[in-house]
Amino acid sequence: MPNNDLTVLDEDIFGKIVWEMDDGIVAIDVHGVITFCNPSVERLFGHSPGYLTGKPLDVLLPHRFRRNHGSHLAAFLKGSADTAYMGSRKAHILGLRADGTEVRLGATILRTQTMAGPIMVAVMRDLTERLSYQSELERLANTDPLTGIYNRRAFTDAAGQHLAEANRTGGQISLMLFDIDHFKSINDRHGHDTGDQVIRDFARIISSILQGEDIAARWGGEEFIVAMPHTGLDRAVLMAEMVRRNAEIVTFSGSAGQDLRLTISAGVVCSCAATEDLESLIKHADNALYAAKDAGRNTVTALMSHWPMPAHFALHGAIG
Ligand code: GH3
Ligand code: MG
Ligand code: MG
Repeated sequence: MPNNDLTVLDEDIFGKIVWEMDDGIVAIDVHGVITFCNPSVERLFGHSPGYLTGKPLDVLLPHRFRRNHGSHLAAFLKGSADTAYMGSRKAHILGLRADGTEVRLGATILRTQTMAGPIMVAVMRDLTERLSYQSELERLANTDPLTGIYNRRAFTDAAGQHLAEANRTGGQISLMLFDIDHFKSINDRHGHDTGDQVIRDFARIISSILQGEDIAARWGGEEFIVAMPHTGLDRAVLMAEMVRRNAEIVTFSGSAGQDLRLTISAGVVCSCAATEDLESLIKHADNALYAAKDAGRNTVTALMSHWPMPAHFALHGAIG
């Protein structure tokens, strides 16, 4: 018969696990005094277990969290759950290191009884690497690699939220679509690298007019989109006009240092009706952009999205 009574052996094994494991373990009593630390705690916090034992837990907490921490612990001690986990993307905890810097931690908090009374044990893991890896992945997923501004996906998410808020509150949001005029001929005459450089320069011009909650993205090719929350058509047209004018007067530089002049066209729309969805608003902006191209390019064309018929007007004629 196998011997299932491993109690003595268990203590040895568990003691070894706690001593050797990569996660830091800190136990505190009901007064928040540290009663035990394993060696990994030193790697997390820069304090030796010997230094920490007998100190208040506060030494491991950034100053701004110290005041409320006692009541959190008391609530956990009185609560119904014996364990709590803090370590998701949003809900990590912050620890204070010996050198004064803060470390982002995932922590499992356990509540248990000992002969000396209840204790709480935190099993902690350094999340710095994982969180920065995650935020780098998020940044890559949301960014257009050529220009460094939002890509289509990130824009659709963010603008969709702004539009939903505008619809809920009866507010306004304006959209503008920009497209470089005769861009194919820039590629054809000066090469693809110059085309890329022009796209980057134009992204900078667009970014320079953004304020507050405005967002801009590369919509594709040499086409850009801007959303301006809390903005009516009049102001949006003025801002698009500023972009058109800046692009017209700026000298773009090609990849071989050559000076290039170019123009852009824009379609501008404003959401004023609560039923508007982002897709149809963008379709209106696209219609307005095509109207600007039809009107001779180097033009900003505005379209009120709630007008029953597409009614547009060129604010600026083509340059002669
Ligand atoms: P229009 O005035 O009607 O806009 O004429 P256009 O020549 O600009 O026509 P269009 O907007 O359709 O041209 C888009 C071109 O942009 C076609 C494609 O070869 C080029 N393009 C798309 N993406 C890139 C890119 O990342 N880099 C470069 N250099 N060119 C690109
Ligand atoms: Mg174009
Ligand atoms: Mg285009």
